Amino acid sequence: MCIICTGEYKNIQNLTYLGPQYFEECPNLTEIPIIPGLQYLDCSNCPNLTEIPIIPGLQVLECSNCPNLTKIPIIPGLDALVCSNCPSITNIPCIQGLESLDCSKCLSLLEIPHIEGLLFLTCSDCPLIKKIPCTKGLNQLICSRCINLRKIPNISGLEVIDCSECLNLTEIPDIDGLDKLHCVDCRSLTKTPNIEDLDCDSNGCPWIPYDCDYEENLKKLIFLQKKLRRLCIAKKL
Ligand SMILES: [Zn+2]
Repeated sequence: MCIICTGEYKNIQNLTYLGPQYFEECPNLTEIPIIPGLQYLDCSNCPNLTEIPIIPGLQVLECSNCPNLTKIPIIPGLDALVCSNCPSITNIPCIQGLESLDCSKCLSLLEIPHIEGLLFLTCSDCPLIKKIPCTKGLNQLICSRCINLRKIPNISGLEVIDCSECLNLTEIPDIDGLDKLHCVDCRSLTKTPNIEDLDCDSNGCPWIPYDCDYEENLKKLIFLQKKLRRLCIAKKL
């Protein structure tokens, strides 16, 4: 039973978390009501959801796999937004204070907003985006399989980049502080950063997937990392 359609949510005191177990992927759910005090909303997998309201005080919003969701509201104070695989979303607003954004597999998304203070950005499989904004302070960038991406910006302090299978990426600059780089199958790369120390973990980690292409992936990585002095790979048992 869906507590939104039945109105049952109104009887729950101090509802701070609302997740899929309350909706059960309800096909009738088209809108989410404003629930005062709600901090964490996960309304992923709602096939007919078209709108999410501005919920004051909301800290985390997950709305992945909502094929009819067209718009993300500006929610002041939101810390984390996960809106992956929403094919009707064309843009994401600039939500000040947002620290973590995952908009992977948004096939119609035209660009990544420039959000000051963003720490973690995951935008893999966004075929229309052409650039990554130069967001000061960004710590982790996962942008694999963005086929229109040509350059990674020089963001000082960026520690982790996964840009694997960005087939048209030509340049990764020398980034101060860059620690981890996963750039397997970046066929167009002509410039790679100077990384001396690379830690890899094959156990469910994106750096070198431990699959049938393991040796091949490793060869490519070493080929690209000409200045590598230390490579550490934790192998799966
Ligand atoms: Zn419902």
